[in-house]
Amino acid sequence: MKNPFDTPERVAFRDTIRSFVANEITPYADDWDEAGQIPWEIHEKLGALGVWGFGIDEAYGGLGFDDCFMRAAYAEEMARCATGGVAAAVGGRSISLDPIQRLASEEIKARALPKILSGRQGSSLGITEPGGGSDVANVTTTARRDGNHWVLNGSKTFITGGMTSEYFVVAARTGGPGLTGVSLFFVEANTPGFSRTALPRKMGWWCSDQAKLHFDDARVSAECLMGEEDCGFLAVMENFNLERVALIAGMLGMMKTCFDSALDWARERETFGKKLIRHQVIRHKFADISARIDAVECYLNQICWMVNEGPMPVAEICKAKVFTSKALEFCASEAMQIFGGAGYLRGNPVERIYREVKVMAIGGGSEEIMRDLAVRQMEL
Ligand SMILES: Cc1cc2nc3c(=O)[nH]c(=O)nc-3n(C[C@H](O)[C@H](O)[C@H](O)COP(=O)(O)OP(=O)(O)OC[C@H]3O[C@@H](n4cnc5c(N)ncnc54)[C@H](O)[C@@H]3O)c2cc1C
Repeated sequence: MKNPFDTPERVAFRDTIRSFVANEITPYADDWDEAGQIPWEIHEKLGALGVWGFGIDEAYGGLGFDDCFMRAAYAEEMARCATGGVAAAVGGRSISLDPIQRLASEEIKARALPKILSGRQGSSLGITEPGGGSDVANVTTTARRDGNHWVLNGSKTFITGGMTSEYFVVAARTGGPGLTGVSLFFVEANTPGFSRTALPRKMGWWCSDQAKLHFDDARVSAECLMGEEDCGFLAVMENFNLERVALIAGMLGMMKTCFDSALDWARERETFGKKLIRHQVIRHKFADISARIDAVECYLNQICWMVNEGPMPVAEICKAKVFTSKALEFCASEAMQIFGGAGYLRGNPVERIYREVKVMAIGGGSEEIMRDLAVRQMEL
């Protein structure tokens, strides 16, 4: 659909990402997924396009401006390669950049941000723990002050980019129980007492890595406390908003790929003497998929506008994330159905998207938690 918020700059940015994805990612993504990793040069090539620089000062290698429409365009176009693991492999840094830019010391920002933004090094966000990811206020990893250092103990799990990142933003308990006792820390991979192990085989996102992080008396300097002590919970919550917008945009890209792939197939495949696309039941499936794509696109555009204008539309983002993962689930299922048995074979983009629906419905805030948060924001 035509986007009433388009500008020449936004269209040009989207076109740049679209052609990069079409030429440099899509032809290889299936092989990378089977191999379980992407070449590191993809991080650097994307970094050169400035895709992670939104909201980050030029002094640190950022773009010096922010635009939610461009953030969303990046996420949507990356998803068009139909291999969610590619965006995930480079994306651990996206969800850790905002806290680094807002809360890390000048020294850390000057040293780390240019390397992360250029794609030379990776960074990850460590919130989820083996004991749970939804209940962020009750993280159990601890950080104890010891002179000019903080000593961290505990573990994190499901951390995207965890095996390859140099830098980590980690939530740990510095105070009493609940949300007022959580702080954020900047932890480097070479920190004594820090180690990591790769998570075993996953349902999807194969070419990205997820890790368990271990902190055994991991000692970081006092300046690695990000922001104020015991005030990390709010920063984590605020950070989730743009992550969720990106997930919504990524899901929109996946839905469009479901539509396009199924349509190509339906135009080719013949049953009962005519092309699949000429059967009314199949045509109705395209109407249903297309309506959901339109709805998500409108919702996303409105949200991007609200994010740019402020204040952050938290309830709308939460509702849209649930709405979109449900819509994606429907689209992936219907597209698979249109393919019939051919959709069940590896290498079919819809087969992979079908497997990747659940990570979108759970990661970055599950459907249950999104509904709960939305209703709380609405003060019902
Ligand atoms: C591939 C992948 C990549 C990830 N990357 C990262 C990352 O980079 N960094 C990071 O920190 N985390 C990451 N995560 C973790 C993700 O954010 C969590 O899985 C998610 O927040 C849910 O936490 P959980 O898995 O511990 O489920 P739990 O919190 O144990 O919840 C289990 C189920 O119960 C539901 N539930 C929980 N509480 C309630 C309630 N009060 N009412 C109703 N239902 C409830 C949840 O919705 C969920 O369906 C990743 C996860 C995956 C799968």
